[in-house]
Amino acid sequence: MKKGIISEWVLQAVYPRRCPLCHDIVMPKGKLVCAACAGKVQPVGGPRCKKCSKPLDAEELEYCGDCSRQRHVFDEAAGIFPYDKIMKSSLMKCKYGGRREYLDYYGQMMVRYGRRYLQHWHPQALAPIPIHKSQERLRGFDQSACLAHAVGRAFGIPVYDHMLEKCKKTRPQKGLGMDQRKLNVRGAFSAGRDFQPLRSIVLVDDVYTTGSTADEAARCLKRAGCGDVYVLTLCVGKGF
Ligand SMILES: [Zn+2]
Ligand SMILES: [Zn+2]
Repeated sequence: MKKGIISEWVLQAVYPRRCPLCHDIVMPKGKLVCAACAGKVQPVGGPRCKKCSKPLDAEELEYCGDCSRQRHVFDEAAGIFPYDKIMKSSLMKCKYGGRREYLDYYGQMMVRYGRRYLQHWHPQALAPIPIHKSQERLRGFDQSACLAHAVGRAFGIPVYDHMLEKCKKTRPQKGLGMDQRKLNVRGAFSAGRDFQPLRSIVLVDDVYTTGSTADEAARCLKRAGCGDVYVLTLCVGKGF
C-alpha cells in the first residue's frame, strides 16, 4: 500500500495529471478535472430516445429517427455525455495520445450518472465491447474494459472481460454510412472464454453513434443464449 502511494506520488511529480477537458495540468492538484472545467460538459438533458437515449428535438417524440426506422438488437442503451467537440477531442487524446488518466474521470462520471440506469436494468454482469487484440497492444489498454471495471467496482457488479472477443479487424466506423457500418461490423464478435448465458447483461463502451457495433455485440450474446442486453456508454452522438 505504502509503496503504491509513493510510486503514485513520484508519477504525479514527473507526469502531473492532465485535465480531460482542457488538457492542461489539473488545477487544483489531486482532482481528476480542473475546478474551472468541471461544468464544461453536462449529461444529455431534455427529451431522449426511449431506445438509444439520443437527445430528441421535440418532447412529443418517443424515438429518434434512427430507432423509428430500424429495430435494434439490444434492449436499451444509455449514453451519459453528448459526443460533442470537447468529448471528441478528450477521447481522441485518451485513446491515441496516451492520456490514460482521463479514464479515471470518465469512470467517475459513468458511476455518477449511470446509477439510475443500472438500478433499472439490474444486470447480473457487465462486459466491455472489446477492441481487437492488435489495437489493444498498440494502445496499451482497452478503454471499454477500464470503464466497465470502474462501474463494476462502484456498484459491486462482476465484470466479464472476455464475455465477447473481437474476432474480426474492422475499419473505423467514422465516415461510413449506416449500411456500410453494419457490414463493417458483421461477424466482428464471438463468444469469449468468459461467456455465460446470463439473464441480463450490460455492455460498456466509450461512444454510441448509430448502434451498429452495439447491435452486433448484442446479436452475438443473444445467439449464444443471453437474455436482455443493455448498453451503457460514456458518450452518445446526435441523430444519424
Ligand atoms: Zn481543465
Ligand atoms: Zn434512438
